[in-house]
Amino acid sequence: NKNDMPSSSSTVPCQYRTGKTLGSGTYAIVKEAIHIKTGKYYACKVINKKLMEGREYMVRNEIAVLKRVSKGHPNIVTLHDYFETTHNLYLCFDLCTGGELFDRICAKGNYYEHEAANLVRTVLGAVQYIHDCGIVHRDLKPENLLFRTKESANKENADKEAEDVMIADFGLSRIMEEEKLQMLTEICGTPGYMAPEIFKKTGHSKPVDIWAIGVITYFLLCGYTPFDRDTQELEMQAIIAGDYKFEPEEYWCNVSPTARSFVSTCLTIDPVSRPTASEALQHPWLASKEPHFVKDS
Ligand code: ADP
Ligand code: MG
Repeated sequence: NKNDMPSSSSTVPCQYRTGKTLGSGTYAIVKEAIHIKTGKYYACKVINKKLMEGREYMVRNEIAVLKRVSKGHPNIVTLHDYFETTHNLYLCFDLCTGGELFDRICAKGNYYEHEAANLVRTVLGAVQYIHDCGIVHRDLKPENLLFRTKESANKENADKEAEDVMIADFGLSRIMEEEKLQMLTEICGTPGYMAPEIFKKTGHSKPVDIWAIGVITYFLLCGYTPFDRDTQELEMQAIIAGDYKFEPEEYWCNVSPTARSFVSTCLTIDPVSRPTASEALQHPWLASKEPHFVKDS
């Protein structure tokens, strides 16, 4: 799209030509972009400076976080390049052609337990890495989990799908200063995935990512989210109370007690008692690669 080409004198962006839109969020549109010289494809997050006015620090923060975690783990999107023009900021990522986990769950209805466990194990491994880097992601959800290739969606590649999943969107991430026992208090995230302590404003940190993993796992297993309510107020109350059930029964009858136990530990209301990423990886549901069976009734 020619109209998207920056008009400034900066020559760097002209090394890319943008194409179709891959996705969009509050401040950004993500477009496919081709590097003209090499013919290589990338995903270019285009952020309108005017829309971001007064919040430029958010993009600077996103870049700082990406510099810390990108390339350090195979399941985290890689920031390839960034630059700006008069009107826009551009973050250029390696292209994930496989789309969002969100769309894959919707297409399948839900995941088989064994495949869900493989995905969650991989994502948690990447979360553990992010946390070890001193970063809390704060916006983990299936829309921000991408797949590197389209092929991983094919049935015959089911056992390989997990290797392909990538954590994206560090727009709400924070670098934590551990020595100060720093806590965050601003309310942010996507309501259905937000931990109780975020709403309570009692201070939050890495445990919010584990809560989100609990919500994502629940979603993978049954095809809907645990705290979905008619209004945001009711949703928030349900989250604060930890009010969810493995119901209706017909969606959960094939899900093992071990899987349910994993979801429940991630959805521990008290963030101090919630498992860390490495503790969650030790849970029997993830620790053994053998499938878990539902007891015969
Ligand atoms: P926002 O902060 O606006 O949510 P994201 O970084 O999550 O921005 O990007 C928005 C959407 O763009 C994602 O949900 C995804 O569909 C798409 N997208 C982002 N990064 C990539 C990428 N590297 N490859 C392919 N698609 C991407
Ligand atoms: Mg996003």
